[in-house]
Amino acid sequence: MPRPSRSSRSARSASRRAPKKAAIMSSASSRSSALSVSATSSRSSTRRSTTRSLRRADMAHALLSPSSAARWMACPGSAWLCSQIKGDSDGGSFASEGSYAHEVAAALLTGKPLPALPAGLMADPQEIATDLEPYLNYVKSLPGPRLIEQCLPISQFTGEEGAHGTADCVALADDELIVVDLKFGRGVKVEATHNPQLLIYAGAAFSCFDFAADIRKVRMVIVQPRLGNISEWTLDLPDFKAALGEVRAGAERALEEMKAGDEGDEVSFRPARSTCQFCRAAARCTAYAAMVAKATGVKVPVAAVPMIDDIGLAGVLSHVDAVKQWCQRVEEDALATMLAGRKIPGWKLVSGREGPRKWTDEQAADTLLKGMKLPVGQRYVKKLMTPTQALKLFKTGGISEHQWLKLEALTTRSEAKPVIAPIDDKRPEYLKVTAADLPNV
Ligand code: SF4
Repeated sequence: MPRPSRSSRSARSASRRAPKKAAIMSSASSRSSALSVSATSSRSSTRRSTTRSLRRADMAHALLSPSSAARWMACPGSAWLCSQIKGDSDGGSFASEGSYAHEVAAALLTGKPLPALPAGLMADPQEIATDLEPYLNYVKSLPGPRLIEQCLPISQFTGEEGAHGTADCVALADDELIVVDLKFGRGVKVEATHNPQLLIYAGAAFSCFDFAADIRKVRMVIVQPRLGNISEWTLDLPDFKAALGEVRAGAERALEEMKAGDEGDEVSFRPARSTCQFCRAAARCTAYAAMVAKATGVKVPVAAVPMIDDIGLAGVLSHVDAVKQWCQRVEEDALATMLAGRKIPGWKLVSGREGPRKWTDEQAADTLLKGMKLPVGQRYVKKLMTPTQALKLFKTGGISEHQWLKLEALTTRSEAKPVIAPIDDKRPEYLKVTAADLPNV
């Protein structure tokens, strides 16, 4: 694996910026002067674009970024391997939507107009604002003042000179420091407990504000509004400092592996499903492929075993998610590689299915159809809104709860189909197996 060039490494450090100041949401507290030590009010679109570029800089350039701390703490070699991957493929459109949602949340919390949609992002700002409500309500319920999109120096935890991270919300309530992180995705539920990303933000906020307040405990919170998840983790100071020590030790291990990799020495990897899931090096990582091969008994990339008994099936089932995830990551990487103009031996790009036909000019099509003497009933399709659309209307205040309850009485849903889950899954066991559930085998 080629070592990163000196110029690319200096480009990374050159891209790091000095900490920026945050927007204050409220100043109705005796602590406002303490918090305003490092805070100024938001200043229009310049501020918003700074936030956006900071978030992108966090993702694209910090090798030990807070958002990937769970990964580099669990797999110390991953930071080095990720630094070897060309391009910036972290997160794709989900990451862009997430970044934009953070901007929308910051605007709503600081009374600014909604930011313009970034070019190429297909999203509805109003819909995002509605989805954000649980997060906005949580932040508004905290005592003020609250710092929104607070940029914090984090190098004391990650060891990367000049590194910074952006905490979505920092608040002080009596003797409690509160740090809230918004996660906008619909994918995996994230817990606040033992979350190193939150620890880094909270540790950095604690360093900034400890001098100005008698902080006795720290509350770290993750809000995932689209999953209905609000997860809190509160620590007293001794436990908080011990947890921060573990993060520092993890960062030191990752930096040692980075040095080993750069010098051509052996690098240590610890593949695991949860660790490899969001690793941008996943598709190219030999350790991950070896784990999948070992777990499945299938030599990558050879086809499946002809017959597996029930015990063997149980053993493989617990790895199915990892295998699916690995296959998906390999396909994504191959597509991105070929789209970038590089060849993968034995493979090529072809056109997939075309999208559905659409009128380029609805008005012209309507006039033409009218001229063809087609009756109105044939020219127009009248469709009743769906129950999901009606529910959305209720959630956005278009209809009252009383009206929605009447409508809900007219809705039905198909029964949930059985799915396989580990024995410790919280859902009760599905016992009703009917002929309709049986697959056609
Ligand atoms: S894919 Fe997994 S094992 Fe490989 S570097 Fe990433 S986290 Fe580590």
